[in-house]
Amino acid sequence: MSGIYIHIPFCKQACTYCDFHFSTSLKGREAVLNAMHREVETRSGEISNPIGTIYLGGGTPSLLQPEEVAAFIVQAKQHFSVEPNAEVTLEANPDDITPDRLAAWKELGITRISLGTQSFREDRLKWMGRAHDAGQALHSIDLIAKAGFASWTIDLIYGLPQMTLAEWDEQLTIALDHGMPHLSAYCLTVEPRTALAHQVAKGISTMPADDDQSAQFDRLMERMETAGFDHYEISNFGRPGHHSRHNSAYWEGVPYLGIGPSAHSFDGRRRRWNVANNARYAAAFATAERYWEEEVLTPAQRTNEALLTGLRTSAGAVIVRLEIDALARNSSVVDKYVSSGHLLLRDGRLVLTKAGRHFADRIAAELFVTEDDRGDHA
Ligand code: SF4
Repeated sequence: MSGIYIHIPFCKQACTYCDFHFSTSLKGREAVLNAMHREVETRSGEISNPIGTIYLGGGTPSLLQPEEVAAFIVQAKQHFSVEPNAEVTLEANPDDITPDRLAAWKELGITRISLGTQSFREDRLKWMGRAHDAGQALHSIDLIAKAGFASWTIDLIYGLPQMTLAEWDEQLTIALDHGMPHLSAYCLTVEPRTALAHQVAKGISTMPADDDQSAQFDRLMERMETAGFDHYEISNFGRPGHHSRHNSAYWEGVPYLGIGPSAHSFDGRRRRWNVANNARYAAAFATAERYWEEEVLTPAQRTNEALLTGLRTSAGAVIVRLEIDALARNSSVVDKYVSSGHLLLRDGRLVLTKAGRHFADRIAAELFVTEDDRGDHA
């Protein structure tokens, strides 16, 4: 199975913390969408496997008219062998949700809505620079719950400045009371060149202590487990049958094709990324210029990517895939984290414990191998 990711690079306004590629100017929108359709056409030979998932992300795909969304789905079905029961996800923001829109998306084959809720509090949404208010956050969830999609999910952010455990608990209670079958919960991080980075540098915003963010992550795990959700990836919780197939495939290293400005693709060996600039991306199709860069991953890089993504999942990182000899050279790191209760060896996989999930990236980085570690296997 393979997947297709379609990046819609437009947003109504810039959120304070966001470092994704998007433009708040709709100038050139038609040229960018046309170029994206050209990209689908020209790259249709790159994947022959059946397509199990299509993911429209961004940016804000719900800014598109339903017929513009439909055009991508129809085109994907024309050019690829899309499985009849493929998961088709659309990221949407609460201010774009109406009963008519939901009905139209369902009609054209969207099976899963991913809603950018982020918070149910007015003050937090304003601080984040979101385009929706708390009323829209709640109302949109109620509309989605009734719309009959195979699955849906909401995003929440914790670890916000001055956020207390009580506030986070209240957010989770509101979410759980609204019956979502899946939650993606992200700890706020300061990404370079964002408005948040500027605010923190100027002392306008102060990030919470690591201990506060950790306590909120513990509370998140506890509440979601009690409510019957599988914690199947560090930031993702799903009821059985509602795990994201698209993201799960990505974490397992399944090939995917990324369409649109800034989109990444991976074919198992080669990673490619499109230019993160709408005008340059669109112009490249007129002038036949190259609009992407690529690198062929070395065996050590492939091992390290598998570690980084696999360790974040409840299934763990598959040791065979990680070149067991290479990891054997790092056995002291494995032993250290097994003894400290952060890591388990289970059925040929390295799996983080609850305590270990707080340090997923750090543990993965310590386990990283080099080409030299791989010896004759390189
Ligand atoms: S709507 Fe999403 S993609 Fe757009 S700026 Fe906000 S967080 Fe980033």
